[in-house]
Amino acid sequence: MRRLLVLGGGTAGTMIVNKLRRKLAESEWEITVVDRDDNHQYQPGYLFMPFGTYRPDQVVRKRHAFIPDGVDLVMGEIDRVNPDDNTVELVDGRILGYDYLVIASGTTPRPDQTPGMLGEEWRKSVFDFYSFEGSKALAEALRHFDHGRLVIHITEMPIKCPVAPLEFAFLADAHLRERGIRDRVELVYVTPLSGAFTQPIASAQLGSMLEERKILVEPDFMVESVDNEKKALVSYDEREVPFDLLVTIPLNMGADFVARSGLGDELNYVPVDKGTLQSKKYANIFAVGDASDIPASKAGSVAHFSVEIFVDNFLELIAGKPMTGAFDGHANCFVESGDGKGLLIDFNYDTQPLPGTYPLPVIGPMNLLKETRANHLGKLAFRWIYWNVLLPGRPMPLPAHMSMAGKITKNEE
Ligand SMILES: Cc1cc2nc3c(=O)[nH]c(=O)nc-3n(C[C@H](O)[C@H](O)[C@H](O)COP(=O)(O)OP(=O)(O)OC[C@H]3O[C@@H](n4cnc5c(N)ncnc54)[C@H](O)[C@@H]3O)c2cc1C
Repeated sequence: MRRLLVLGGGTAGTMIVNKLRRKLAESEWEITVVDRDDNHQYQPGYLFMPFGTYRPDQVVRKRHAFIPDGVDLVMGEIDRVNPDDNTVELVDGRILGYDYLVIASGTTPRPDQTPGMLGEEWRKSVFDFYSFEGSKALAEALRHFDHGRLVIHITEMPIKCPVAPLEFAFLADAHLRERGIRDRVELVYVTPLSGAFTQPIASAQLGSMLEERKILVEPDFMVESVDNEKKALVSYDEREVPFDLLVTIPLNMGADFVARSGLGDELNYVPVDKGTLQSKKYANIFAVGDASDIPASKAGSVAHFSVEIFVDNFLELIAGKPMTGAFDGHANCFVESGDGKGLLIDFNYDTQPLPGTYPLPVIGPMNLLKETRANHLGKLAFRWIYWNVLLPGRPMPLPAHMSMAGKITKNEE
């Protein structure tokens, strides 16, 4: 028997075991996936919980329900990988062996990494929405918030779903308007970037949307600490941003076991080849999804497109052939903009988000970098697609590689 071991049964890990179980004979391949608990959370739903659009029970399902027959789901905390003897140790002492290992342990918000963030004001006036508990607590706080400074803050890039803080700002603006208290609240967007987003065309578009909504931007802000007494963010260059309610995106980091195993960079991401996702150190180890260091967005869509490439490559590899697929960094993200509208961005390693239509030229039906109702409906439909199509590894009618069809380049404008 040959053994494939997948660490993490989240978005990427679940898709991989579903797709590969169908392709690999049970008489030849043992497939195991490890995760710490039996709750699979639909993380994009964390954005909507604070505004009451989703209830907490709508974003959690039993993990085992998405793991196919013939795959062993091991519940336990991963302690370390021993890449030289092809074993993984769990915290409870169990040891699992492998021939091929996929690290799909994602990335996690780490408020403990910023002095003062977990201080007295944590979950009183300092919240995050990048965790299930944080999002739930913020829903309660937002219900009682009716005036003052609401500060939305990114600690450092990269973060998963890099548009989510912007979406939160747009939704907060719409939510406060709906409650008739927008004029009593100052909305501030604090970012380590020099603009609203990382890529120039999208940054200009999203930046002007912040401006239209009178959301103040504090750019180039490298946070040093959270001052709990003053209720202020403090930067390394000694700027202070006071808040009444702080919604922060803490530093995002890969799993600690990756560092303990000597497999990570300074943020615990696994250095891999950006086309094949194969570890730069070990030929039988791959990192897929948010756990790798590829220079793409950390997003479910990236996990999905890269899994397609990984699966085909993996089948070639185990058949003794060279891997012929190369992931292009394709990301595809809906951006909620409030009032029942949204934008869509589609990009990859080499092409920044451009205006146009998606997936078909002219017809769309989605519009790129433009606020439409169809984009908002697409975002809401994505939850159903996630549970029913993506996770079970069913085919999606979208190519894994980014297409230029429908995109308007500068020359065409
Ligand atoms: C607020 C928010 C909004 C988002 N919105 C979008 C969106 O609109 N579109 C989009 O494409 N993406 C979105 N994302 C990002 C998306 O959810 C992630 O990119 C995606 O889930 C990554 O999949 P993954 O498999 O790499 O990691 P995950 O799905 O996070 O899975 C990692 C798994 O590893 C397990 N694990 C980690 N360490 C250990 C350990 N030591 N022992 C045992 N188990 C362990 C975890 O329990 C987890 O189940 C959003 C994320 C957030 C937080």
